[in-house]
Amino acid sequence: MINKDTCTLCLSCVSACPAAALQDNQDAPQLRFIEKNCVQCGLCVKTCPEKSLALVPQLNLSAERAQPVLLNEAQPYACVRCGKLFGTLKGIEAMLGKLAGHSMFQGGALERLKMCGDCRVIDIYSADNESRITDL
Ligand code: SF4
Ligand code: SF4
Repeated sequence: MINKDTCTLCLSCVSACPAAALQDNQDAPQLRFIEKNCVQCGLCVKTCPEKSLALVPQLNLSAERAQPVLLNEAQPYACVRCGKLFGTLKGIEAMLGKLAGHSMFQGGALERLKMCGDCRVIDIYSADNESRITDL
């Protein structure tokens, strides 16, 4: 069982699942579940940082249990610099909200969180106000 309102689609549970019961989708921000594979180990519940998952003990013998079921999906987020899709709108907004008051994430540093991994590196190395190892 999943709480879609609190799930940020971070996919930590997919990495934790030892039975490939939880899966992502390479083409879209989605979390999918194949009931037949689940061994009810509970690792996904323990791993979820948002406490969005709960186990529901049951025995499903129907053919559908082998089919992936969509648990949650989200709108993808486009990098503000290059437009490449990465992460989700909800996940990025949550991160911005949590870090907005942090002294290390003000101005350009906060804006950098809206960029994909490649553009963050380019932006850091092209910014005039960043410290460089060659300055030491
Ligand atoms: S259920 Fe939890 S661990 Fe899985 S994607 Fe959602 S927030 Fe991440
Ligand atoms: S309880 Fe099921 S879905 Fe969760 S980690 Fe274990 S096998 Fe995967």
